[in-house]
Amino acid sequence: MRPFLFRIFTGEEEFQTGKLEFKIPSLRISLAGNCNEKCFYCHNEGISSKMPQVIQTGDIINTIYSVKDYGLRKVKFTGGEPLLFKDLKNLLYSVKHIGDIDIFITTNGTLIKKRIKDISPNIISKISVSLDTLNEENYKFITGKNLLNDVLSGLDLLKKNGYRVEIDNLLLKGLNTNKRSLKNMIDYCAKNQFDLQFIELSDKTTADIYGKYYADPIKTLRKIGLDFNAEKINDRKFFKINGIKATL
Ligand code: SF4
Repeated sequence: MRPFLFRIFTGEEEFQTGKLEFKIPSLRISLAGNCNEKCFYCHNEGISSKMPQVIQTGDIINTIYSVKDYGLRKVKFTGGEPLLFKDLKNLLYSVKHIGDIDIFITTNGTLIKKRIKDISPNIISKISVSLDTLNEENYKFITGKNLLNDVLSGLDLLKKNGYRVEIDNLLLKGLNTNKRSLKNMIDYCAKNQFDLQFIELSDKTTADIYGKYYADPIKTLRKIGLDFNAEKINDRKFFKINGIKATL
């Protein structure tokens, strides 16, 4: 029997037979505490452009090696903004080299063009790009930066290079929940064959922001005439709109 570093047991029988094992199927690793955008709803990431990079490639590789025998199948790199991580290319190759692990990245998409030479669709299983709106003014209002075109040209590059892409669309009442905004986003994803994930505003943001911008995802989609039979898997709902995979 494999020696346990950790044990979880609820009863004498499991303890004696060692039926319960500690599993770590996925890791989420924040590569950068800082971010080059300033979304008004950001609750704990992207907090300072002056934060030093504290995590190093070696630390990450050692961590993955030490947990990989506990069923590790998936590593997700996030931030802040993970494409600010300088040693990205080396990190991705090193993680892939470890073995049978799917690599995911969540990014604001503004730096894809700059970092495209450091990433590869053969290494990354999926890139999730945060994109709440296709409207330039609203994009600037939401993120504090005028970088929508950088994101869109980055997404074009990902498509051209054969990446699997998911758009993360945070629903914000009054900013992107009307029929036109949602239809534009759905059409954009359908045209490019990107998956689309609608995200609910977290109550970890301030009460003022939550009160003003929270939109219930199911009610919002039904209100604009989208009816769907969502399949529920692990608290997430999956459905199809215009032939693309959508998630709540
Ligand atoms: S892109 Fe993400 S990390 Fe950066 S400010 Fe916006 S929500 Fe925060």
